[in-house]
Amino acid sequence: MNIILFGAPGAGKGTQAKFLISKFNLIQISTGDMLREAVKLKNEIGQQVETIMANGELVSDEIIFSLITNRLNENIANNGFIFDGFPRNIKQAIKFDQMIKDLNIDLDFVLHIDVDEKILSDRIENRAKQENTKRKDDTSDVLIERLKIYNNDTKPVLEHYASKNLLNVIDGMGTIEEVSSNIIKIINSDLKVD
Ligand code: AMP
Repeated sequence: MNIILFGAPGAGKGTQAKFLISKFNLIQISTGDMLREAVKLKNEIGQQVETIMANGELVSDEIIFSLITNRLNENIANNGFIFDGFPRNIKQAIKFDQMIKDLNIDLDFVLHIDVDEKILSDRIENRAKQENTKRKDDTSDVLIERLKIYNNDTKPVLEHYASKNLLNVIDGMGTIEEVSSNIIKIINSDLKVD
């Protein structure tokens, strides 16, 4: 089973990704995690992306595809993938469509964890205020920038998948458990129809 997970910053995407990975034994492809790892290792990609990420902007599609391609090829014989934080703009989505077609990978679910903008802003404020914030891009200003980029660049990707009848919108406003249970309901009901 292959899943793409969408959610604005603060929507709880990372938490639900972890839940789905352990429930269905999926390989996670989180471009954000891969980039953070590169920054930590201070390798060539890490040096190229550090400032871009710290500003909340998107890194180049070229870098993203170099990371994705390696990860997909290494794990092709697995249970399935969960793409988390990718594709992030319409160009990435169109290139990704071709890529998975060539690799014979079917997308089963595109899940959008939908949270009201006002609630997102409140969560963002809280996240930024937490003393032990681990992420450099979790400051209030950068999170607001990330939200803007999400609305401009990433939302059109949702329409792309809606037009292919793959998009499922999940109410992301409940507790973590409620959101997980909404996701499972969608997966189970679709699996039964198949
Ligand atoms: P995330 O952990 O998914 O929120 O990603 C953290 C940061 O990594 C983003 O703000 C971007 O700077 C960068 N990033 C992650 N995924 C992508 C992507 N698919 N395309 C471009 N930039 C990305």
